Amino acid sequence: MLDTSTATARPSPLDVLKRVYGYDAFRGKQQAVVEHVTDGGDAVVLFPTGAGKSLCFQIPALCRDGVGIVISPLIALMRDQVEALKQLGVKAAALNSSLSRDEFFAVRDAMRAGELDMLYVTPERIVTDGFSEIVAGARIALFAIDEAHCVSQWGHDFRPEYRTLGMLAERYPRVPRVALTATADPHTREDIIERLGLESAAVFTTSFDRPNISYEIAERDQPRQQLLRFLSKHQGESGIVYCLSRAKVEDTADWLNTQGVRALPYHAGFDRAVRDANQDAFLKEENLCLVATVAFGMGIDKPDVRYVAHLDLPGSVEAYYQETGRAGRDGLPSEVWMAYGMADVVQRRKMIDEGGAAEDIKRIERAKLMSLLAICETAGCRRQAILAHFGESHAGRCGNCDTCRNPVETWDGTEAAIKALAAVYRTGERFGAAHVIDVLVGAVNEKTERFGHTEMPVFGAGKDVAKSVWQSIFRQLMAMGLVSVDHSAFGALKLEPEARAVFRRERAVLLRKDRPQTGRKARAGGSPASRERSNLSGSDLALFEALRAERLTIAKDLDVPPYVVFPDTTLIALARERPADLEELLDIPGIGVSKRDRFGEAFLAVIEDFAG
Ligand code: ADP
Ligand code: ZN
Repeated sequence: MLDTSTATARPSPLDVLKRVYGYDAFRGKQQAVVEHVTDGGDAVVLFPTGAGKSLCFQIPALCRDGVGIVISPLIALMRDQVEALKQLGVKAAALNSSLSRDEFFAVRDAMRAGELDMLYVTPERIVTDGFSEIVAGARIALFAIDEAHCVSQWGHDFRPEYRTLGMLAERYPRVPRVALTATADPHTREDIIERLGLESAAVFTTSFDRPNISYEIAERDQPRQQLLRFLSKHQGESGIVYCLSRAKVEDTADWLNTQGVRALPYHAGFDRAVRDANQDAFLKEENLCLVATVAFGMGIDKPDVRYVAHLDLPGSVEAYYQETGRAGRDGLPSEVWMAYGMADVVQRRKMIDEGGAAEDIKRIERAKLMSLLAICETAGCRRQAILAHFGESHAGRCGNCDTCRNPVETWDGTEAAIKALAAVYRTGERFGAAHVIDVLVGAVNEKTERFGHTEMPVFGAGKDVAKSVWQSIFRQLMAMGLVSVDHSAFGALKLEPEARAVFRRERAVLLRKDRPQTGRKARAGGSPASRERSNLSGSDLALFEALRAERLTIAKDLDVPPYVVFPDTTLIALARERPADLEELLDIPGIGVSKRDRFGEAFLAVIEDFAG
């Protein structure tokens, strides 16, 4: 139990929140979870990223007798988590395969002497005899299973070792267990409860909306220029750019560096050392663009990721939400942006069709792709469409997505749809979109001539409409389930049964008018995040920058990421409130007793210099 030095009784959760973390109030359902687990109950916590899940197990661990054992999937990230706790004055350690023998014994001895508040372990460790030996005789306050979705095969982060964690209930029947995840889909939730034996646990959920994240989905046109325009709004900030392939990751990172954007690549093909170094740089630097495959990101708790870009269509709505969710954990405004085109849909479909999965899994994958496509092609609020996918209703008009900021016009596309579908049908449902569009616009080329398509009535029937518009129309027809791509026939477009109603004019087709992408200027005025900061008056902003520089110096000395010293939200409050002494520092959110003692003088000096 944490030594609160003022009293010998058990500290209350609220005391710990204030004294250790420097926060005045719990957020949302945090308090309910904390009280339930502190009282010895099991819990499943399903909160979105940034909601504050860590406190849901850390505070009960500090309030209960014994050591809290935290199961976390990634060794590379344990160190930072342990370091962050140490800065808060919490006695924490990590147990993983990277420890030397001496380090292992040190952890064991601290455990036995009851000197640890929290121990981080990997799932593979916890089932070993070494672990049983270490905890023998020690009191365990609770088990926290972080990133609990790793137990589920539904997600893309499946980790077989998580399956063995079901045994904790039998082996340690009296120890409360809390499983936490930011994954919103119901299959994964069911899996967590079943696989971890948490049927009788209390389940805590909150809205999955992330109001501080701004969504934008654009048609891919000149992807590099589009990306550069997006990044130009985020100078001096950190973010992630996701690409589908390793080669594209490397090319994109190289290219960004030639454009003056400091970028590092990350994918599973690099050596562990390179991956760790680039991840570490991303955590510790404040102005780095990490270009990565989806191998990057799980468990990254960097709070000030200001943007996430997707240069390719993500794997599913779930994956998109998880990947974009890495932005803005600190609650400050953040932007996510995706560029996609028809080729993505065709490629994804191909990956599913040619993959080794069973037919029923493939069917689910195809349905998932269609759900994502529907969000990409919606003329309505993106946030509403995304949340609806997770079974959550939202009134729409969020004001913080591209379609809300810039409403798209719709038009009655029934006649155009009929032409498009007729072109698919007349050419025998044997050709991909590119050829069918050539037929529609009347392009005379080797292929249209060889197949005799130049002689057909549909040839040139759509020549009054630009090719790019036809591409958009076909994507929307796909999103509406009127046509599909058949990979057993080399990507040929096929008509779906629903198409018949359109031919018969029983179904009207409302289409979105895509906005032209080219020539659009980058928005001036900096990023939403820097605009938020500039809510600080001129001199407060200058002080903020000075505090930021101090933070970086301290972080470098300690070899920790800057946010481990203080998050941006704390620096913003310092710049606004300008506390005058150590006592007043405790009124700033994010400054508890330990951090005040460690860093207080240094930051007060910056504030004083500034005033003087
Ligand atoms: P999650 O694990 O759910 O993604 P974290 O536990 O990393 O979220 O918390 C996100 C951020 O919110 C952290 O910077 C954390 O310190 C802050 N935070 C959590 N709870 C509170 C609270 N009650 N008051 C103020 N800030 C909080
Ligand atoms: Zn919206």
